[in-house]
Amino acid sequence: MWSWRLARVFGIDINVHLSFLLVIVLGAMQWGSFGVEGAVFGAVLTLLTFASVTLHELGHSLVAQAFGIPVKDITLYPIGGVARLGKRPKTAGQELLIALAGPAVNVVLVFVLGALGAWAFGLEAMQHALQLGRTEDPTVVTLLATLVLSNAVLAVFNMIPALPMDGGRVLRAVLSWFMGAQQATRVSAFIARVLAVGLFALGVFYNPMLTLIAVFVFVGAGQEVQEQKISRILDGVQSADAVDPWAPRFAPDSTLADAVNVLTRTNWDAFAVEHFGRLVGVVTRADVLKAAQDQGPYAYVAGVMRRTAPVVDGREPLEAARFKMNESGEPFVAVVRDGLFLGLITELELVTVAERMAKAGFQRNDATLAPEVSLEVGKRSNW
Ligand SMILES: [Zn+2]
Repeated sequence: MWSWRLARVFGIDINVHLSFLLVIVLGAMQWGSFGVEGAVFGAVLTLLTFASVTLHELGHSLVAQAFGIPVKDITLYPIGGVARLGKRPKTAGQELLIALAGPAVNVVLVFVLGALGAWAFGLEAMQHALQLGRTEDPTVVTLLATLVLSNAVLAVFNMIPALPMDGGRVLRAVLSWFMGAQQATRVSAFIARVLAVGLFALGVFYNPMLTLIAVFVFVGAGQEVQEQKISRILDGVQSADAVDPWAPRFAPDSTLADAVNVLTRTNWDAFAVEHFGRLVGVVTRADVLKAAQDQGPYAYVAGVMRRTAPVVDGREPLEAARFKMNESGEPFVAVVRDGLFLGLITELELVTVAERMAKAGFQRNDATLAPEVSLEVGKRSNW
């Protein structure tokens, strides 16, 4: 929402959020005392700083891709960038390396830009500019020095051990070698929340941006714990057992009027289209509503349905089904066993199972999971 595509690198869309424009204006204003020249300098500096952020996110993304984890996109916000990974890393080692790759890029940039400045303007001029920072004239050497400093800040700041920041992920990965993934997530989230409170207090006195980041960390740490619990629950249930035999299904010659009638009375977001027990297509709630408007109530479901669906074997855990949904970007996955179509799994089935397991006292001390489970199917891990 409110973002548009800037570029596409290694198959990854790089998006910019609309509010980002404001940051460029602010950047220009910071150097406004130097006139037009200063304003242009400020805008360029801001753009290059966010180019560093983009390279940081690409660092995470490329290592993730190397581990076979799809990267959906990178979006730049005023407080930083977010790379959305299609699924979570399989092992703690993978999480560790993906997390380290981002700050590592900034460390490399510190040395490359620093060396470039020293080579072009001499070591002394560069050191001078590094000490003066923003009080210096808007020159190229100031630009390089400021970028060296901001990359150093990016590297150090992101390594604060507060989940879901990079340092927090490193901490969790290391802890999980000693105490298992679940306990490691809990301990890391606790540390993150303590640090977030401190960061918030610092922000109130020094920098309002820090308060925003503190809130982001506090909320994000909770989401990590939640996500980890849901993962574990879904891992313990076979996909076949999650299929709801009462989920409505359509025939290819069902009309859109029939379909609209069914979906106004139920909560499912996707429906199987069957012909003699065989899956021939899937229609989503959005497909049906749009088509009913465009084509009228008497058009057939067959003309609207999608003819391909992500498929999962009934014996595979529900967590695998969720991965397939994430990867495909579809709100459903078809469950088959021995060539037989059993039914669809949608967000509704995932939530139902998670709630049922939580109520059954899946884990007594998981008080935050019950009674409300908010489960976003598109839930990806953000970096
Ligand atoms: Zn990062």
